[in-house]
Amino acid sequence: MQARLSAALRDVTADPLQMTSPNLRVCAKGRNDVTQKAHGRNLEDRDPESAEKQTTKRAKRKAKKPCGRKQKPKTPESSGDLVAELPFAKAEVWKDLGFPSSESLKKKRKRGERVESEEDADKKKKKDCQRANYFVSVPITSSQIKSGVEAVQAAVLQKDPRLSRALIAPGSLHVTLLVTHLSNEDEVNLAAAALVQTQPRLQELLEGGELVLPFSGIWHFRHEVVFAQLAEGEHAAKLMKIAEAVRKTFEEKGIAAGDGKDFKPHLTFMKLSRAPKLRRQGIKKLDPELYAEFIEHQFGDETVSRIDLCSMLKKKTPDGYYHCEKSVTFNLVQTTRRASSTSGKKLPEADDEELVRLSKKLVEEAVLRAVQQYMKETQQNGGAVAKDEGPPTPDATPTPNTNSNK
Ligand code: AMP
Repeated sequence: MQARLSAALRDVTADPLQMTSPNLRVCAKGRNDVTQKAHGRNLEDRDPESAEKQTTKRAKRKAKKPCGRKQKPKTPESSGDLVAELPFAKAEVWKDLGFPSSESLKKKRKRGERVESEEDADKKKKKDCQRANYFVSVPITSSQIKSGVEAVQAAVLQKDPRLSRALIAPGSLHVTLLVTHLSNEDEVNLAAAALVQTQPRLQELLEGGELVLPFSGIWHFRHEVVFAQLAEGEHAAKLMKIAEAVRKTFEEKGIAAGDGKDFKPHLTFMKLSRAPKLRRQGIKKLDPELYAEFIEHQFGDETVSRIDLCSMLKKKTPDGYYHCEKSVTFNLVQTTRRASSTSGKKLPEADDEELVRLSKKLVEEAVLRAVQQYMKETQQNGGAVAKDEGPPTPDATPTPNTNSNK
């Protein structure tokens, strides 16, 4: 036994990786193939029987080698496990040879590597849980805006073709109203229901009219996100109210919305986060020089016709837009309204407004005609009518004016 131990120790001193443990051989192979082979021959020379066994074992291992991804060579740390397997693992000689003891390796792993990786996994899990995967969007449908964006993008590409990955395809253009994380089908359904529930409030905010968003000029967030700016005005305030209404409804349903950033309506057409490879290539900022000639470009108007609950991760539609879980279409509501007015039910707000507008116009025309008639008659009577008598009131039946502006 002592003789075998000293023989083993002799081998170890010659090359600490030359062990009887097959595992250690694998490890050693990854670290120093040439030395391994040389010492393997020595071992075979010394003990032909064990050499034969080793060859068979090696052949078996070779046959078992899984196909597919190339296996990584084991890390030096894995030798700790293998050292622990040896019968003389606790021998002082390991320390002399510069190997850490198996116990200290275990401790090291516990304190360092394993704890850290658990923490990392936890952090990653948490991050994934919170990372936005859905958003509420106003899609850009205006062909004028799309071609304006394409023109800027073409100019950018001419200056730096590497940026193609950072560009947003015209079919994907949108204005984000809010972002959220929905972790399962139930939550998606809840968010979809919330969006539908917001519809009457949105309709109210639109006051029966259209919401037209004019985009003009280019700006950026930290030179990492470049976008067409929404011009200031009443429309911007309305869009912000719409976003706020959606966010409120989501939150009432228990869906956290927002990413902590101020809502600043914008139309992104280029962003670095789309292409992490660019960062690795050293492109950390999007130089305004890239789009300098378009800095004040008038992109045109988008009439908001619908808002969508979209997935960031699901496959996009063939036209390049995001997968929509739910859409609220403003035109649809107007169609419903027309239908109800013809069915004899009470006319909703927008039709009432139209009637009031028409009535006012008719009354104004009638008053005008009455005044004209009054003036005509006054002139005919040679000024017989008292000065302060004034024209007839709109209540008086006016004489139809046959002398139109024609
Ligand atoms: P989107 O237009 O939704 O694709 O957003 C483009 C990027 O702009 C996203 O990474 C947002 O996090 C970022 N972003 C949105 N709003 C702001 C803001 N107010 N300040 C800075 N970054 C923002």
